[in-house]
Amino acid sequence: MQHIEISKILTSKPAAIEITVKGWVRSFRSNRFIALNDGSTIKNLQCVVDFENFDEKLLDKITVGAAIAVSGELVASLGQGQDVEIQVEKIEILGEADPEEVKLTILSPKRHTLETLREQAHLRIRTNTFGAIMRVRSKLAFAVHEYFQKNNFHYFHSPIITGSDAEGAGEMFRVSVLDPKSPPLNDAGEVDYKQDFFEKESNLTVSGQLEAETYAMGLGKVYTFGPTFRAENSNTSRHLAEFWMIEPEMAFFDLDANMDLAEDFIKYVVKYALDHCADDLEFLENRLLQEEKNKPQAERSEMTLRDKLKFIIENNFKRVTYTEAIEILKRSKPNQKKKFKFLIDEWGADLQSEHERFLVEKHFKCPVILFDYPAKIKAFYMRLNDDGKTVRAMDILFPGIGEIVGGSQREERYDVLLDKMKAMDISEEELYWYLDLRKFGTCVHSGFGLGFERLVQFVTGMGNIRDVIPYPRTPGNAEF
Ligand code: ATP
Ligand code: MN
Repeated sequence: MQHIEISKILTSKPAAIEITVKGWVRSFRSNRFIALNDGSTIKNLQCVVDFENFDEKLLDKITVGAAIAVSGELVASLGQGQDVEIQVEKIEILGEADPEEVKLTILSPKRHTLETLREQAHLRIRTNTFGAIMRVRSKLAFAVHEYFQKNNFHYFHSPIITGSDAEGAGEMFRVSVLDPKSPPLNDAGEVDYKQDFFEKESNLTVSGQLEAETYAMGLGKVYTFGPTFRAENSNTSRHLAEFWMIEPEMAFFDLDANMDLAEDFIKYVVKYALDHCADDLEFLENRLLQEEKNKPQAERSEMTLRDKLKFIIENNFKRVTYTEAIEILKRSKPNQKKKFKFLIDEWGADLQSEHERFLVEKHFKCPVILFDYPAKIKAFYMRLNDDGKTVRAMDILFPGIGEIVGGSQREERYDVLLDKMKAMDISEEELYWYLDLRKFGTCVHSGFGLGFERLVQFVTGMGNIRDVIPYPRTPGNAEF
């Protein structure tokens, strides 16, 4: 018999027909009540067994973690916590799970820390927490596509392997098929990449932006949504070596239009999660409340998870220039009392996450878009303002996360771009194709990059980025 998903069953009315469900046993109480979960929803289906009618040997195999199929009638539940349940007529054990071995894993029914769950990342998806996170992640990914497709953007697949290392967004992972033990050397005694697969040095992409710009110059509005790689040796709760990035790029958009789009986009996907992940968000909200109970009062959040998400949707992001932000930071208490690790004393300083978080969480208490940064601390492709010292860059800062978006209006003037590249020592030979865009029908254009995992972190309330991607890659860790 064809099986039905639990999410569907739980919204059905009792009916006098036999149905079949398949899933994994979460618990088996009193030899009578099986809590079955199949991943379609965070909710378990209660399956009621009249044990008198079943073989004891079969019942012994209904253990936590086992995969089973049960058939029976859907009836109104007499117990609390569910409207319907299955009155079991038939049980089939599909895959056993030895209780002695289960005991040694995170499948065992007790509280496990997130660290322990990470060590068994292949099993953690069987927990309520990770089921909820990964369903929300999936819905958010769909919402990303839906937003851009509805707004006439074209999905652009940027290359994963790139031959240009000029973007400078981060350290790169080399792609090579040369024998690491004895690579061919050139006359200068260096590794001779001319003999490598691509006949030049190649790397995993750190960003699809430059290539996306080429497509925006023909398709108008494009977006990428794919994996990016950064060999940055930063062990933080917001950095991964492999993460998914969303990068829209739009012809004829200036920085204001770029900021409007970013804000509208974020609000759309957050609302999508609120509208489509109610059960999972309720669970994650309670999880967060539990977690915060262990924290001192001052560190607990004032809003619940869903209130935070609603707050984002209902309020305008505060737009502030870098120069204004520096003034605020200079005068701030933690700066005056030397509480910041990096003190702000002059215009031009790069903002650290402690400063970003101060602005968002303490000063403005809402998402902030900082723009018009000093040219010196931003990438070569950002459009120079008339003051000659700031560029049309913008970062969006979120509570608890820090930077979630980095974007800019791109320098569309050939001469200005060339000067910038020379000054920043960026090879014009290598980026001839990028310069070409400024020769053939150049135009004002803009775009931004949003780290998908940071978005998932914000929506799920998870503190560590390693817990919002199935198999996190971080320094010293590429297990599974
Ligand atoms: P940060 O200062 O936080 O390292 P960045 O300035 O390097 O970020 P960009 O190069 O502007 O970031 O990348 C665009 C977006 O990609 C960031 O706003 C962030 O959301 C995300 N991002 C950047 N690096 C990482 C990473 N290592 N892991 C996960 N997401 C990242
Ligand atoms: Mn970075």
